[in-house]
Amino acid sequence: MTRQIAHHLPDAMLRGYCAGTLPEAFDLVVASHISLCDECRARMHAFDAVGGALLDQADEAELSEDSLAATFRLIEGIDVEKAKAEETPPPATSGVLPAPLRSYVGGDLDAVSWKRVGGGVSQAILPVEGDASVRLLRIPGGVEVPDHSHSGSEMTLVLAGAFSDAAGRFGPGDVEMADDDVTHTPIAEPGEDCICLAATEAPLRFSGLLPRLAQKVMRI
Ligand SMILES: [Zn+2]
Repeated sequence: MTRQIAHHLPDAMLRGYCAGTLPEAFDLVVASHISLCDECRARMHAFDAVGGALLDQADEAELSEDSLAATFRLIEGIDVEKAKAEETPPPATSGVLPAPLRSYVGGDLDAVSWKRVGGGVSQAILPVEGDASVRLLRIPGGVEVPDHSHSGSEMTLVLAGAFSDAAGRFGPGDVEMADDDVTHTPIAEPGEDCICLAATEAPLRFSGLLPRLAQKVMRI
């Protein structure tokens, strides 16, 4: 199934994923997006190819003067369309959760242990190593997520439904990156529950008193 994905992974996230330097929480969001998105999967293979070639070059005693030029030729030579065509599609799944996520949840959406956090919103915090946390969020259609800003990066992948905020509309497969100075109020599109996977680098700061209480309950 080809999804209409409008918002993709930033290069920095893909590079970090290939290099294995991302916290597990962000790795999971990247892996989940890649399993849904042909384009980012092809870009990931391109980064892998360049990374491997650079390592091969580094093995040679000295980098020659034109090694940089050679690297650029290598990058230019990567044909994303061809890589996409050669790519074996991942096994088709009929559920909502992509394969990388299912192993964390122990199944599809019906295996998730949701905890209500107020305003009709539910969440399930997933077990990961490191400071960054990752959670599944279920926001009823038409409901607003409390105004919050970040003291670190947040990466959100939509799995079902859609939400909108100042940055645009995010539907299934779309990724939104938000960093420190962004205060945003995502609103779930009316009609369907919005199911998201969100990785957060550091605690969120909610703006009002009530959301601060919610923050305590939500452990974010
Ligand atoms: Zn993508």
